[in-house]
Amino acid sequence: MLEFERLIDHHCHGVMPGTLSRAQLEAIISEGHRPVPGCTNFDKPVGMVLRRYCAPVLGLEPHASPEDYMARRTELGGEEASRRLLRASGLTGVLIDTGHRADDILDVPQMADYSGAYAREVVRIEAVMETAARTAGSGEQLLSAFEALLEERSADAIALKSIVAYRTTFDIDQSAPTRAEAAAAGDAWLKSNAASGWRRLEDATLIRHALYVALDICQQRRFPLQLHVGVGDRDVNMPKCDPTVFIPFVLQAEAKDVPLALLHCYPFIQESTWMAEVFSNVYYDIGFTLNFTGPEARKIMEQAMGMGPFFKHLYSSDAFGLAELFYLGRIQFQRTLGAVLSDWIAAGDCTLKDADRIVAMITHGNTERIYRL
Ligand SMILES: [Zn+2]
Repeated sequence: MLEFERLIDHHCHGVMPGTLSRAQLEAIISEGHRPVPGCTNFDKPVGMVLRRYCAPVLGLEPHASPEDYMARRTELGGEEASRRLLRASGLTGVLIDTGHRADDILDVPQMADYSGAYAREVVRIEAVMETAARTAGSGEQLLSAFEALLEERSADAIALKSIVAYRTTFDIDQSAPTRAEAAAAGDAWLKSNAASGWRRLEDATLIRHALYVALDICQQRRFPLQLHVGVGDRDVNMPKCDPTVFIPFVLQAEAKDVPLALLHCYPFIQESTWMAEVFSNVYYDIGFTLNFTGPEARKIMEQAMGMGPFFKHLYSSDAFGLAELFYLGRIQFQRTLGAVLSDWIAAGDCTLKDADRIVAMITHGNTERIYRL
C-alpha cells in the first residue's frame, strides 16, 4: 500500500469565511459563464467528484444531490463545514497565495487554525506593485515603494509568485528594463490611473521590472518564484501562456539558481514536464487541473508522470475559496498518482519501494527542499 502521509499543498488560497449560498459555491467552481437553464455548475466533472467525495465528509451518502449537499452544508454552518473538509484533507502544510481577493478569504493564521496544518505565505508581486501605486506620486516613487514593500513582505514569506501570463502573456520582451524605462512606465500608469480611473497593472515594462526585483530577492532568500501557467479564467490568452514562450526568462532565473514552480500547467503539461527535464530550476504541478478534470483526472496524472523528473513534480490543489477544493485536491491526487504507480508496479516497471520513494518526493520531499521548509 502506497503511503501518502505527509502532504504539503504548495499552491493554494484561503477559503471564504461564513456560510456560502449555493450561488456563491457554484461561482467558485466556475471559471466562466453561467450554466444553461436547467443545468448547474454541478453538471461538470468537478461537480461530480465534489458530490461523490465531499458529501460523506459532511455526513451524507456519496453522490448526494446538490440540494441535499447545500442543505447539509448550511445546517452545519460554513465554518464547521470548512473545518471538517480541511481537517479531512490531512495536510501537513499549506503555502498560501494571498494576492487574489485577500479581503474575501481567511488569512494565513486562520488557514492554519482551520486546517491543522502549518501555513506560510506566498506573496504575489503584481499585487504588491498595485499596493505601492496607491500612494506613489511618480514613477520613481512607485519603484522605490514597490522594492521596499516587496522586501518587507518577503521577510515572512516562503516564496514569491507572478501572474505575468495573465497580465501581459509570456510573449513579451523578457530582458530587464533599465530603471529609467521602468520609471517612465510607472509615470504613464499613474497618470492614466489619475485621468481615467484605477486600472490594474498590465504594463509589461513594470512587470518585467518587478520580475527581476523578485528574482534577486528569491536568489538572496533561496526560495522559489511561482509562475501561473495556462488554465484560468477567460482573461488568459492561452496560446501565449505556453511556458516554452518564457524560456529566455527561465534561463535568467536558472543563471541565478532560482527555482521556478510552474503552476497548473494545463493544457501545457507536456511542455512543462519537458522544461522540468531540461532546465535545472523548473518544477511543475497539476493543481486545479486534477480537480476540474474530475473522473478523468488520471489522464492528466499520466501526462504529468510522462517525462518530468520525479524530483521536479510538486503537489498543489490550487484551491480557492472553498474547503471542498482542498479535500478534492488531495483525493484526486492520491487516487490518480496511486493508480499510475500501481500500474507501474503491476507491469514490473518499478518496485513498491521505488513507488514509495516517488510518492515521498512528490508529496513533500521536493517542496520541503526547494522552499527550505
Ligand atoms: Zn491559484
